[in-house]
Amino acid sequence: MSGFSQRLHDLSQRVAAAAATAGRDSESIRILPVSKTHPVADLREALAAGVSEFGENKPQELATKAAELGANLDLCADRNEVSPRWVQIGNLQRNKAKLIVAYGAELQSLDSAKLAQTLNRLLDQAGRTLEVMIEVNTSGEDAKHGVAPEETLELARLVIDQPRLHLIGLMTVAAHIDRVGERGVFEMFSQLAGLREAVLGLPGGADCRELSMGMSGDFELAIAAGSTCVRVGSALFGPRDYAQKPVS
Ligand SMILES: *Cc1c(COP(=O)(O)O)cnc(C)c1O
Repeated sequence: MSGFSQRLHDLSQRVAAAAATAGRDSESIRILPVSKTHPVADLREALAAGVSEFGENKPQELATKAAELGANLDLCADRNEVSPRWVQIGNLQRNKAKLIVAYGAELQSLDSAKLAQTLNRLLDQAGRTLEVMIEVNTSGEDAKHGVAPEETLELARLVIDQPRLHLIGLMTVAAHIDRVGERGVFEMFSQLAGLREAVLGLPGGADCRELSMGMSGDFELAIAAGSTCVRVGSALFGPRDYAQKPVS
């Protein structure tokens, strides 16, 4: 077993245990491996271990890796497809939107009406659609991206109206657990779950089923609060070295 396979196996067991504790089916929880800062060689090892998609934080890094490993633009991951799906999970500026239109299968960090409209126009030109989640700033921290909770429904309505965008869920990054405690983090995740119920009730909102929440340090709490997608980086790929430029 490769190092990655072993870590994926261990993580899957922890996800299954958290799901069992919450009385949930672990099949309903997707593990999104977050490969940011890690070199393409590590991603190849992950592909060999059966991974079919990667989450990346920076659009340029996503594009560079996708150009090298190939990109499956299909809306649903097909496990027989050799090219991985690429999922943008970090902030996306409008001038980088074309990179996601070229290589991304999914964007989890949609957080403004202008970005939604820009993407819709570029996707229309490319003749394709994109799965999106709205990122919500549930912690209220200035440094965090995402729309304010009270603006989520308004943005959801606008996204639903864009024919090239397919709204599949909501995403959040909670505050650090050591700052707000488990209870504070659980409340942020629960708030996202409540907002999803509201979006599901909108006309055209019925596909907004996913809750992307939980990372290496807090995914068990997120699963307890209803997460359907945990974004896991360091627990799968090891610690990140931000000083080092990713090598390919
Ligand atoms: C880096 C990142 C993750 C993964 O973080 P880990 O703590 O390494 O699991 C998840 N979500 C987002 C938005 C990230 O940028």
